[in-house]
Amino acid sequence: MPVKTSCPYCGVGCGVIASTDKAGAVSITGDPMHPANFGRLCSKGSALADTIGLEGRLLSPVVDGQEASWDAALDLVAEGFVRTIREHGPDSVAFYVSGQLLTEDYYVVNKLAKGFCGTANIDTNSRLCMASSVAGHRRAFGSDTVPGCYEDLELADLLILVGSNAAWCHPVLYQRMMAAKERNPACRVVVIDPRRTATCEGADLHLPLRPGSDAVLFNGLLAALERANAVDGTFVRSFTTGMDAALASAAGQTVAETADICGLAEAAVDRFFDWFIRTERAVTLYSQGINQSSSGVDKVNAIINCHLLTGRIGRPGMGPFSLTGQPNAMGGREVGGLANQLAAHMDIDNPLHRDIVQRFWGSPVIADKAGLKAVDMFDAIADGRIKAVWIMSTNPLVSLPDANRARAALDACDLVVVSDALRYTETTRHARVLLPALTWGEKDGTVTNSERRICRQRPFLPAPGAARADWKIVCDVAQRMGFAGFGYANVAEIFREHAKLSGFENGGSRGFDISALETIQDRAYDALAPVQWPATSEFPTGAPRLFESGGFFTADRKARFVPVTPRAPQSATSRDYPLALNTGRIRDHWHTMTRTARSPRLMLHVFEPCAEFHPEDARREGLENGALARLSSAYGTMVARVTVTPEQRRGCVFVPMHWSGEYAGEARINALVNPATDPISGQPELKHTPARAEPYSPKWHVFVLSRREIEAPAGGYWVRGRMERYFRMELAFDERPASWRDWAHEQLGLAEAEVEWIAYRDPGAGRYRYAAVRDGRLEGCVFVAPDHKLVARSWLSSLFTENPLSPAARMSLLAGQPVDAREDIGPVVCSCFGIGRSQIATEALKGARDINDIGKRLKAGTNCGACRPEIARLLHVGTQDAQPA
Ligand code: SF4
Repeated sequence: MPVKTSCPYCGVGCGVIASTDKAGAVSITGDPMHPANFGRLCSKGSALADTIGLEGRLLSPVVDGQEASWDAALDLVAEGFVRTIREHGPDSVAFYVSGQLLTEDYYVVNKLAKGFCGTANIDTNSRLCMASSVAGHRRAFGSDTVPGCYEDLELADLLILVGSNAAWCHPVLYQRMMAAKERNPACRVVVIDPRRTATCEGADLHLPLRPGSDAVLFNGLLAALERANAVDGTFVRSFTTGMDAALASAAGQTVAETADICGLAEAAVDRFFDWFIRTERAVTLYSQGINQSSSGVDKVNAIINCHLLTGRIGRPGMGPFSLTGQPNAMGGREVGGLANQLAAHMDIDNPLHRDIVQRFWGSPVIADKAGLKAVDMFDAIADGRIKAVWIMSTNPLVSLPDANRARAALDACDLVVVSDALRYTETTRHARVLLPALTWGEKDGTVTNSERRICRQRPFLPAPGAARADWKIVCDVAQRMGFAGFGYANVAEIFREHAKLSGFENGGSRGFDISALETIQDRAYDALAPVQWPATSEFPTGAPRLFESGGFFTADRKARFVPVTPRAPQSATSRDYPLALNTGRIRDHWHTMTRTARSPRLMLHVFEPCAEFHPEDARREGLENGALARLSSAYGTMVARVTVTPEQRRGCVFVPMHWSGEYAGEARINALVNPATDPISGQPELKHTPARAEPYSPKWHVFVLSRREIEAPAGGYWVRGRMERYFRMELAFDERPASWRDWAHEQLGLAEAEVEWIAYRDPGAGRYRYAAVRDGRLEGCVFVAPDHKLVARSWLSSLFTENPLSPAARMSLLAGQPVDAREDIGPVVCSCFGIGRSQIATEALKGARDINDIGKRLKAGTNCGACRPEIARLLHVGTQDAQPA
C-alpha cells in the first residue's frame, strides 16, 4: 500500500509517496496532490530510496562503548539527569535538539526540560538556521509568523531572493518560481548575493553586494520608497507604529551612497529600487545569507520595514518570506524548541504565559528565564556549568561554529547522551550513552514547512532492531525521573495536547493556534491532510495569508517598524586573514551527509570538499583550479579542492558545510568558523569568518576505486564515498610507500596471488597504475601521480560493469585513458540521468542552443529539474572542471 509522507530534507516540505514492493524494495515518487510540490521532487528527494538501508544504523543502546539493554541505558540517563539537577541545580543540564525531530518529539522534550527539569537550557540546530528570522518576526509582528504562502511566489511580479541559493537549497520551490516566471513574462527576479550562484541563472538582475551589507541595501530601499512617495499611508497609519524612527535610521540614504557601501554599480541599485517602487506584487524571500549573521535580526527587520511601508504584506503575491532550512524548523518553533521560547509561541519572560503553560501541563516548575542558546550552551558545557547534555538527531561537532571547541566541550562533559539513528557520527563518537532512534520512513508525526503548513510524516518501514521513536525515548526517561504527564499512548495523543495548548487561554492574542485540531481522533490524525496554521474555529481549514488588515500579535495589534543601524560583520578581514569565508550548502548534499552520502548518485555531483575562489584571489595566493588548498582561520584549518571561478566575489571564499571526519580527513569547515553571534537571536555568523588560503601540495596524489570498502588512513588528505558498484577514495600525502605495488595490494585488500594484476609504472614521471582483475572482472584500481593532475575517474566506473573486461578496457587501464569509444562524462550534473559536464559541453559544441535542447538530446534536466540552472550556466559561460570526475 503506498504511503503518503513528507520529504525529510529542506523546509519546502514536499509530499512524497513511498511504495514498497513484495520483495521489500522501496520506491519514492512525488505526491501529485501535495500543495508544496504537486508531484515534483528535487535530486535529493528523488534519491530518498537509496538512503534507507540499515547499514551503519544504531540498533541497540550503547553505554560506555558496549551494547546495553534499554532498561540499563534509560536508568543511567534518568539517574544521571536527576542527580545532576539535585547536586548542581536545573541549569546544570541541557538538551540540544534538532529541526529533524518531528513536532511531537520536540513537544515532549521541551515539556520535560522547561516544565519538569525546570531549565530552559534546550536549544536546537534551528538556532544555526532560523533564529534571526524568528527574532525579526517577533520584533515586527509580535509573533513568529510567516505572513504569506508559496502561491504568493507564483502570483508575484517581482521576486527578490536575498542570501538564498534557492536553486540548490529549495529546488522545488525555485522550479515553481521559474515556471511562474515563464507563464508571466512581466515577472522579474532579483538575486542579492555576493556570489553568482545557480539561482542567478533565472534572474533578471544580480546584485553581488559586499558581504554583510544587506541592511544598508534595504535601508537604502526604504529611503528610496519614501522619496518616491511609495508609502501606503492607510496601511501604515492603521496597522503599524514606528515608521518615522525607521525612516530616520535610513537617514535619506541615496542610491549613490547605498551603491558605494554595498560595492555595487549605482545603475544596478537604481534599477532594483525602481522595480520595487513600481511593483505592487513583490515578494522578498530570504534565507541563510540574511540569518547567519551577527546582525541577522536587523537585516530581517530592514527587509520587513520595506514591506510594511508599502503595505505589501498578507495579500496575494506580496510579502516578506523566510525560507526555512530544515524540514521541521518551524514545527520546533511552534512547540518552544528554542531556549528563549515557551511552548505554543508563548514567551518565557512573560509571567502570564509561564503561568498558562505550567497550569496546562500541571508541572511542578516552569523555567522562568531564557536558557543558553546553542553557542553559549556549548561554552557552558566546556567550562563545566553544564554537566549533563542530551543531544538528539543532530551532529553539532560538525555543524557548530568553532567546532573543535565544541568537540573539546563534549569530551570534558560528565554525561553526554546522544539519541541518533546512526552508530557512528562525529558526535556519537563522543557520547557515553547512545540511544537508538527511529529515522525517516520509520517515524510517525508531523512537521511544518516554510509556509506554515503542517504535514504528516508517516512510517512505511518497520522499526529496526531495538530503535524507538524519539518521543517514546524522552517519555521513558521522564517517567523514570519520576514525572507524571508523559504516559502518552501514541503520537496522536501528543499532537492533541500540543493543539489544545495552542488555544488554551489564547483569545486570539497568540499567532500560533491550531485548536481546531485539539479533538482530532487517532484515525483522523493518521489521515490528516496538509493544513496551514492557524487552524481555529475562524479558520477551520487553515489560513494561507495573514495581516492584510493588521491583526498583528503585539499588544496594540499593530506591526512595528524597527529602526536599523547597519553593522559590519563582527570580525573583519585583515592582512593575516584577507578572505571572507562563507559557508553553505551544495545541491546534492544535506547537512552533515549522514543520509545523502548513502546515495551513490548524490555522491556524483560534488565528491570532494571544495573551496571557490575568484581568479584574482587564486592568482594572488598561488592556487590552481583542481589542486588542493589549506584554509585557515583563527580557529582551525581544513583542506579542500580549489575551484577558481569568476562567479565568486573577489575577497571571498565559499566552502560547503557538509563534510565530516566520517567522509574526509581535515574537512570540517566549521572548525574554522568564528563563534560570533547575533546579540538578539544568538545565531552564529556562519557567512563571514576572516580566513586565508595557501596551496597544499603533498608529494603524492592517489585515487582508489574498489569493490571492497577502503579503510580511511590515520592522517593526510583523504575523501571517501560509496559509488554504485564500488567505493572511491581520494588521497594526498607526502610519504612514499616502500613499494607502490604492495601499497596498492593493501588498499584493495587483495594479495598478489589472489588476482591478476595489470600494472603500469613510470618511476621517472612518478606515475603508477595498478588494476586487479578476478575471473575477468575488475576488482579495483589504484592510480598514483606526483601532482593533482590524475586521470579522469568517470570513465573507469563503466569498467566495473564489464564482465569480462574487454581487451580495450584492459588496454585503457594500462594507458590511463579510454582507448575505445568509452566516454569520459566529467562530473555529473544531472543526477537523475547520470549526465556529466563533458556530455553537455559536447552537445553545446554540436549546436545545442538552450536547456530544452539539452533535455531533448540527453534527457538532462527533464526529471526533477534541480540541475537546470547548472546546465544553463554551463551553456552560458562554460566551467572548467575542478572536481576530478
Ligand atoms: S525541495 Fe527537495 S529536499 Fe526540499 S523538500 Fe522538496 S524534495 Fe525534499
